[in-house]
Amino acid sequence: MTPGILRATSIESFPTLDAIPRIAARFLTKVPDVPVTLERKEAMALLAPFHQQFLRECGLGAYPLASAEQVHGTEVAVVTTASNEPIPGVDGLVTTTRGITLGIYVADCAPVWITTRDGRAGALLHAGKKGTALGIVQAGISTLCKSANLAPSDLVLFVGPCIRPPCYEVDFAAEILNLARAAGIVESHDCGICTACHPDRYYSYRSAKGMTGRMLATLTMLPS
Ligand SMILES: [Zn+2]
Repeated sequence: MTPGILRATSIESFPTLDAIPRIAARFLTKVPDVPVTLERKEAMALLAPFHQQFLRECGLGAYPLASAEQVHGTEVAVVTTASNEPIPGVDGLVTTTRGITLGIYVADCAPVWITTRDGRAGALLHAGKKGTALGIVQAGISTLCKSANLAPSDLVLFVGPCIRPPCYEVDFAAEILNLARAAGIVESHDCGICTACHPDRYYSYRSAKGMTGRMLATLTMLPS
């Protein structure tokens, strides 16, 4: 299969995020028929052309992608320009810059989108069991608020597909919502989808014992 042959089911979006102006949020799921029983780096290299193709299919191919090293930590970068290399040491990306796409790779960990209702600022976080316990959600909220002069009550938070009970012993999606509320976010949503329950649609690190692909969550700040 080449990147030119696509299945529309590989691109998901969510009504809650679709309703917000000036942004585009997408979740690029499993690429059917591409064997990815591989380590992370190899799997991501194999999937990269498909991810680029999917973004073009969504009309988002023109925007450079800023990504994060993703170390299951709590560092958050404020992104003003996209570079080819992932930003080292961070698990969260925040921006107010138009015309770029933030990207986070996941397979069981949650992608967490945080935006304002008017789409003028946004964040995308990589939040699994460890990062959530360490404080990536609070760090993302506080960095976004500081960088764009916002209050948590200005924000909408959305938890994407991730592993959940009973497939996993820790309900970190529920914890992300609890932390959002505690931080002062009044509007938070969870898609409720478990990655491990749908092997046809999603990669699951735990189900595949670590040898699998990565989904790409994106947040594009559309040009004004
Ligand atoms: Zn499940």
